[in-house]
Amino acid sequence: MKLDSMYQEIILDHYRNPHGKGLRDGDAEVHHVNPTCGDEITLRVRLDGAVVADVSYDSQGCSISQASASVLNDLVVGKQVGEAQQIQEAFLELMQSRGQSEGDEDLLEDAVAFAGVSKYPARVKCALLSWMAWKDATAKALGGQPPLTD
Ligand code: ZN
Repeated sequence: MKLDSMYQEIILDHYRNPHGKGLRDGDAEVHHVNPTCGDEITLRVRLDGAVVADVSYDSQGCSISQASASVLNDLVVGKQVGEAQQIQEAFLELMQSRGQSEGDEDLLEDAVAFAGVSKYPARVKCALLSWMAWKDATAKALGGQPPLTD
């Protein structure tokens, strides 16, 4: 797999120093696996009203899946749930672009580093694992108890 070297460096940085890793309190927890690669993640979402207060996770697997969870944490924590969902959808679109999209850097920040990964169908699931877990956990957190308003 060949990725732009700057993008590869961003992915390796997140892999080596994952942001927000470790399980903390949450409103909902999910466990997702990517059997084709062996990646696993347990992820918790904590909401504060309509804001994503925390995304904590315990994960193991390849560098792409691990780096992607770190980038997810960077991008959605502190955002309004609706805004975070837009980012998730934009990332999903990028990963389904088969190398045709570069991604919107203003919206996706470091996540654009995964653009090259979209050319490798086997690795797309690695990149999406944590994002799908987040989507699932957020739906659970929202469904389990309506977000509190101040
Ligand atoms: Zn993987």
